[in-house]
Amino acid sequence: MATSRPKIPSELRRRVLIEAGHRCAIPTCKSTPVEIAHVIPWAKVRKHEFKNLIAPYPTCHARFDDPHGPMDRKAIRQYKANLNPLLPISLANRNGQANMLAAYQELRGRFAEWLPTEVEYAAIKSRRSSSREKIEKSRSDAVDKLAWAIGAVADFQSAWGEAEVSDLAVVIFYHVAD
Ligand SMILES: [Zn+2]
Repeated sequence: MATSRPKIPSELRRRVLIEAGHRCAIPTCKSTPVEIAHVIPWAKVRKHEFKNLIAPYPTCHARFDDPHGPMDRKAIRQYKANLNPLLPISLANRNGQANMLAAYQELRGRFAEWLPTEVEYAAIKSRRSSSREKIEKSRSDAVDKLAWAIGAVADFQSAWGEAEVSDLAVVIFYHVAD
């Protein structure tokens, strides 16, 4: 059963490219140009998420996808983790810091995806030519995205504890509002 694969939103694509400095995500390669690849294949996850996207050079991408090659999913996941300077391997098992950072990234990423839908809704609503149907569709997109973003808050709170949460919320909003 074929399900059509939506395009990766341009803002998400940009984040993935910036994370890799617009160069191949394998540090010893760093070639250009790059493509966007899924760490866990699209066919399995059926969604585009920042944490699952990585930017490899086309030849490296082909190696990712070669089931007989030495580059397995675990290796690719490690390349992805290494891209975040805050998340070196050494942190992985130390006092849950990796969990904290991952929860932070997830929360921030979700809010960053929500914000443009809210902005778009406001724009559509203010346009006289917008049909009632179009306004409702855009409102519902924004509401869905916000609910999805808020879904990450519980994980974030349990990873960080109550104290830091309010300070961090301000920082996150500051960043996503850029
Ligand atoms: Zn490469």
